[in-house]
Amino acid sequence: MNSILLFTNNLRIEDNLTLQKAFLESEKILPIFIFDEELLKETKFHIPRFSIHRKNVLIEALEDLEKNLSSISLNLYKFFGNRISILEKLIFENKIEKIYLQKEFAYEEIKFETEIKIKFPNIKLELVQDGSLIHLDDLQIEIINLPDVFSSFRSKVEKNLYIRKPISIPNKIPIQIKLDYKENNFFEKENYNKNKNSVFSFEATEKEVKVHLENYIWKEQKISTYKETRNGLVGKDYSTKFSTFLTLGLISARTIHYEVKKFEEEVLKNESTYWVIFELLWRDYFRFQFIKHKEKFFYKTGIGNILKNTNLDFERFKIWKEAKTNSDFINANMIELNETGFMSNRGRQNVASFLVNDLKVDYRLGAEYFESKLIDYDVYSNYGNWAYIAGVGNDPRKDRYFNPEKQANMYDSDCKFRNIWLKNLE
Ligand SMILES: Cc1cc2nc3c(=O)[nH]c(=O)nc-3n(C[C@H](O)[C@H](O)[C@H](O)COP(=O)(O)OP(=O)(O)OC[C@H]3O[C@@H](n4cnc5c(N)ncnc54)[C@H](O)[C@@H]3O)c2cc1C
Repeated sequence: MNSILLFTNNLRIEDNLTLQKAFLESEKILPIFIFDEELLKETKFHIPRFSIHRKNVLIEALEDLEKNLSSISLNLYKFFGNRISILEKLIFENKIEKIYLQKEFAYEEIKFETEIKIKFPNIKLELVQDGSLIHLDDLQIEIINLPDVFSSFRSKVEKNLYIRKPISIPNKIPIQIKLDYKENNFFEKENYNKNKNSVFSFEATEKEVKVHLENYIWKEQKISTYKETRNGLVGKDYSTKFSTFLTLGLISARTIHYEVKKFEEEVLKNESTYWVIFELLWRDYFRFQFIKHKEKFFYKTGIGNILKNTNLDFERFKIWKEAKTNSDFINANMIELNETGFMSNRGRQNVASFLVNDLKVDYRLGAEYFESKLIDYDVYSNYGNWAYIAGVGNDPRKDRYFNPEKQANMYDSDCKFRNIWLKNLE
């Protein structure tokens, strides 16, 4: 059988369930990635969707995938354009019978899956569930009964938590389907000077995340104090920095879980080691919530149908995004985001609360801005967290407020963080 293996948010060869299935079932294979031209258009609120920061990590990850596939005698072909037209041509010219694709649950991804089914009724589409820590088949809660409050979800799943072991690359590697084509220059790396203060000081590669995991857990044992440091703002060590690797799919959440458990068995088990897994459950939680509530996560009124006193005020939004508010703490965080494509969790909570509660701006503008900028942008975690802070999502308290002055005194009392980012403005 001739198959296409379509990579999306799973740019790795190890512990990749879609790749494994495709390898085991196909005789000939065409590994591809398509950058959909739609992503270069503006969002519905006129925000560019794909910043240079996002492009840079994506291109790094794709170059790495290309190398990793070539080490097992396969080529990755990268395309730019309309996803359906590209697939149509490839299917026709290469007698493709089946497409392997990781299953996703957000609006645009489901639309794409549906388009494939309608446009190519004779092609089998294998949608492989992956991306989460808990495999959906092991969740043991019907999605319809999924609690809307995280603590109830956590206590339910923790009773019988079953996480699959990571798998290695299958021994059976299909024959490469070769193409004669010229790659679009979109995939050439642009001049990109990484800000020297960026807390994401890594290359976006499978090898780099393995080294980082080894250092963070085993060599430097930073994991043993994660719970105390996780609200930090400065440097690479206050939190795991796994998010960008997870978003691009350079590592599976299962692999991280496996190493944490091993460390707990062999070296140390404490609140901090538990808390890393706890955070990975938050990640799953938002993903599963999307399956339950679907496009409601993109509504102004959120999953709870709650009307907040906010507006699509583009003037105030501009002040926020350009770091020109009356709060130096908010501005410093926004400068960090604009300069590097990353912001700490503490920062994200504060700037989100500021936009919604202080400036009274519709949270969807902030969520779209994060979508454009964040190198770890993940549709579920981003929209889920924004709705949560805006009081229209999964927070049982609908009036959470972060006082930026108090927060700055608590988390940046020596102004170290603000000095890093505000000094550019002086
Ligand atoms: C408004 C807002 C928007 C956000 N947008 C995103 C996003 O687009 N992509 C993204 O990955 N995270 C998002 N987060 C969650 C969180 O801020 C980041 O995952 C975290 O800061 C990444 O740094 P880290 O990997 O060092 O996290 P750590 O603190 O080390 O946590 C370990 C891992 O747990 C997961 N995690 C931690 N906190 C959360 C959370 N609140 N929700 C979901 N997963 C979590 C992440 O995968 C993270 O890599 C957002 C949070 C807020 C408040």
